[in-house]
Amino acid sequence: MKVAIVGGGAAGCFCAIQLKRRLPETEVVVFEAGKTTLAKVAITGGGRCNLTNSFAGVRSLDKVYPRGTTLMKRALKVFSNEDVMRWFEAEGVALVTQEDCCVFPASQDAMQIVRTLQGLMRRLGVIVRTSSAVTSVKALLEDFDKVVIATGGFTRGVASMLDGLDLEIEKPIPALFTLNIKDDQLNSMMGAVVEDAAVSLCGNKGANGNKAAKMRGEGPLLLTHWGISGPAVLKLSSYAARILADCQYQADIAISWLGNYNEDQVRSLLSEIASANPQKAVVNAYPEELTSRLWAYLVRRAGISDEKWGSIPKKSFNRLVSVLCADVHHVDGRGHYKDEFVTCGGVALSNVNISTLEAKNIPGLYFAGEVLDVDAITGGFNLQAAWSMGQIVANSI
Ligand SMILES: Cc1cc2nc3c(=O)[nH]c(=O)nc-3n(C[C@H](O)[C@H](O)[C@H](O)COP(=O)(O)OP(=O)(O)OC[C@H]3O[C@@H](n4cnc5c(N)ncnc54)[C@H](O)[C@@H]3O)c2cc1C
Repeated sequence: MKVAIVGGGAAGCFCAIQLKRRLPETEVVVFEAGKTTLAKVAITGGGRCNLTNSFAGVRSLDKVYPRGTTLMKRALKVFSNEDVMRWFEAEGVALVTQEDCCVFPASQDAMQIVRTLQGLMRRLGVIVRTSSAVTSVKALLEDFDKVVIATGGFTRGVASMLDGLDLEIEKPIPALFTLNIKDDQLNSMMGAVVEDAAVSLCGNKGANGNKAAKMRGEGPLLLTHWGISGPAVLKLSSYAARILADCQYQADIAISWLGNYNEDQVRSLLSEIASANPQKAVVNAYPEELTSRLWAYLVRRAGISDEKWGSIPKKSFNRLVSVLCADVHHVDGRGHYKDEFVTCGGVALSNVNISTLEAKNIPGLYFAGEVLDVDAITGGFNLQAAWSMGQIVANSI
């Protein structure tokens, strides 16, 4: 049997290795457009490669994989995060799980992952053709018994390579980006971090209104000189990738500066601060979760100047509660976060049998990795998807 794998990235190389181990007699050829395989893996996780996640903090898979939840539920049963960890450890890669559940090689070096995979391909006899961009999958299907498409984020080149195959494509758009907010005072606090914040879309506009209302990214929030960033923002950018693209990244968002508190809890917290500090100016006594600079900004936004906690008018108190719980800002464009950029969209899941990842209408053609309409928030979940899908395709073949 002859198998062609198009794309020498995480999914393609992993699939090639697992396939060759199961079927040593099979001729497995990896076609890679770039000069070297696994070039992207080499830069993942800031050069450290966050290769999976312990999933300890995952309550529901749709919060991690906004696109491809059902597929990933099955995929993780076939090849879980624990399987990934065992697999790399068996290859001599010691791993560490950080407090935030992200898993890295103990060497903190992505090149160890790259070298491990490249070494295995070499030893197993996988044929690797670098600088070989495939331009037509139709032609490849004539020469090989099975063809695996693992070309990563969907580009025009990938679209033209798939020409004539009659596949449904979900429009590719970016996910995992920061948000631009033009507010000099907010921007001047660049570098400040709020550990437990939440960001949500205030969207009642259009058909997506109801969906938008449920989209909320929680976690640390980082103020930047162009707007906001950090895990809470990246999560929202992933959940709301399509809505934000549809409105050309012009939208209102609400920041909850005390993301762990609901409105009643914020009221109680402020009441406690007021009772304990009646003689202090509002600006001078504040929740320990916030910095004095950020608090001064929020107090100004609530229209409070030199009122004391002991005599704060009810209206001002209520305004402060609402600024803390849902501080509305206008997003004016998206930033360019390059640490872990992924594509939302690509080959629609309706084209494939999600248990085998084989194309429904083209026997012998398989898809794995980011080329499919599957993507995740940050934390090692995207690479996990690539390993799991690579394994599924190897099993299916
Ligand atoms: C800077 C950065 C950091 C990241 N960090 C992390 C992280 O720490 N953890 C995590 O889980 N995820 C991370 N990601 C996301 C993760 O890298 C991807 O989700 C993952 O690499 C997808 O694997 P893949 O095999 O589908 O695609 P890729 O790894 O992108 O591989 C696809 C390959 O196909 C090749 N190709 C494309 N078209 C053709 C063609 N026509 N012919 C031949 N070859 C072709 C490409 O050159 C490429 O080598 C990061 C992404 C970026 C950009």
